[in-house]
Amino acid sequence: MSQIAISNIEFDYNNGKSNFSLNEISFKINEGDFLSIIGPNGSGKSTLIRLLTGYLQPKNGDIFLNKKKLTDYTSKEIAKQIAYVPQLPTSIYPFSVYEIVAMGRYPYLGLSGFERKEDKEKILEIVKLLELDDILDKGINEISGGEAQRAFIARALVQEPQILLLDEPNAHLDIKHQVSIFNLIKRLNETRDLTIVTVMHDLNLTKYYSSRVLMLSGGRLFLIGNTDDVITQENIRSVFDVNVDIQKSELTNNQSILINPGYTTATN
Ligand code: ADP
Ligand code: MG
Repeated sequence: MSQIAISNIEFDYNNGKSNFSLNEISFKINEGDFLSIIGPNGSGKSTLIRLLTGYLQPKNGDIFLNKKKLTDYTSKEIAKQIAYVPQLPTSIYPFSVYEIVAMGRYPYLGLSGFERKEDKEKILEIVKLLELDDILDKGINEISGGEAQRAFIARALVQEPQILLLDEPNAHLDIKHQVSIFNLIKRLNETRDLTIVTVMHDLNLTKYYSSRVLMLSGGRLFLIGNTDDVITQENIRSVFDVNVDIQKSELTNNQSILINPGYTTATN
């Protein structure tokens, strides 16, 4: 069943700061998908993700969440179904890890604004799942990038969403932590049936973890489909203007994408 249907949306910022627009975007996100959004810098990946959160609204067209228009939900109702992990901020008010995670309960808090027993239980369950127990009292600026990313994912999960949106969750992480963050996201996708929609930068990670891939190019949907049908030499050349080799690893049988600078068609 499709959870989100994007029907012919158009969007521009209309704030005098850029001429960028998203045009004629239609696709569906199904329950249990691991959908990656890829495309060059400035192609509109983060904009598209922010439209799916309801934070930005399309100029034309509609976004449906479980067959009802996103604009017909309150922000708290959306937050119970869709959680968003933005790109790791470079600086943030020095909340503790616990405070950051607890913020995710806001859609469930009553008028008093106080956490109830079930809120605390949920927070502690997720803290345990993401192995944050030992750093709960630390400031968010006093921990590593990998730990901070886990704290923001925990904040999203305590919202108890059915759909998790992420924007380059591996940005600023070393390769060990990149792999561990994606293993974690994949585990949530498989064991909790959590639908994943993530902006991706790395084509190898995209190929390994995604079930489907959406390619954006200059604010337009270039292609959406099964991972192996989208991540091809030809499509990558068309969208990124770079030639790659796709080779099978003898060690793992996985295919990897080799960016060979000697093959690039780019002139700058
Ligand atoms: P991507 O995530 O693919 O790199 P973005 O969606 O962040 O691309 O940005 C697409 C385009 O929209 C860029 O040209 C960017 O400068 C512009 N843009 C992003 N945010 C804003 C904003 N708040 N106001 C005006 N223009 C913006
Ligand atoms: Mg972006």
